[in-house]
Amino acid sequence: MKPVIALVGRPNVGKSTLFNRMTKSRDAIVADYAGLTRDRHYGDGRLGRREFIVIDTGGFEPTAETGIVREMARQTRQAVAEADVVIFVVDVRGGISAQDHDIARYLRQTGKPVLLAANKAEGMVGSAHLGEGHELGIGEPLPVSAAHGQGVRSLTELALETC
Ligand code: GDP
Ligand code: MG
Repeated sequence: MKPVIALVGRPNVGKSTLFNRMTKSRDAIVADYAGLTRDRHYGDGRLGRREFIVIDTGGFEPTAETGIVREMARQTRQAVAEADVVIFVVDVRGGISAQDHDIARYLRQTGKPVLLAANKAEGMVGSAHLGEGHELGIGEPLPVSAAHGQGVRSLTELALETC
């Protein structure tokens, strides 16, 4: 079984951009992965000889009954349940929000291994903003730029080592 990496975070932090960086194809053939739910995006990734599966959360299609917050929570819970390791994505440009703290609290209590990706960090190495991520209690923020492909390889390596 390939290791499964879930990308979790509030909308607009860059999860899908990171997903596209980590995977070859936008949408993997989900049929191959028995046991995985089909209402999210799965992608095949490869780093050297290691193959893995990435789950992108937040093709949020809330119904009137659920609303976006509940739908987000539902997708996040399912992705986390399926994952061997979670990459929690935050936006260091926009800053850490109350919603990030809620997600962090939830992730800590799941007991899953979690890496903190400080996205949109291009040109911000050493910036004070990066330090803000520490307050989430997830560990050292790993600066990445999904849009520019910076730090994505080391993040992926670390995620695979953590599985
Ligand atoms: P998602 O809602 O978490 O899936 O976020 P998206 O991947 O759709 O990205 C949201 C916005 O952030 C888009 O406009 C992206 O182009 C932008 N974005 C994603 N990654 C980066 C990054 O590394 N740097 C910058 N500056 N913008 C980014
Ligand atoms: Mg997205």
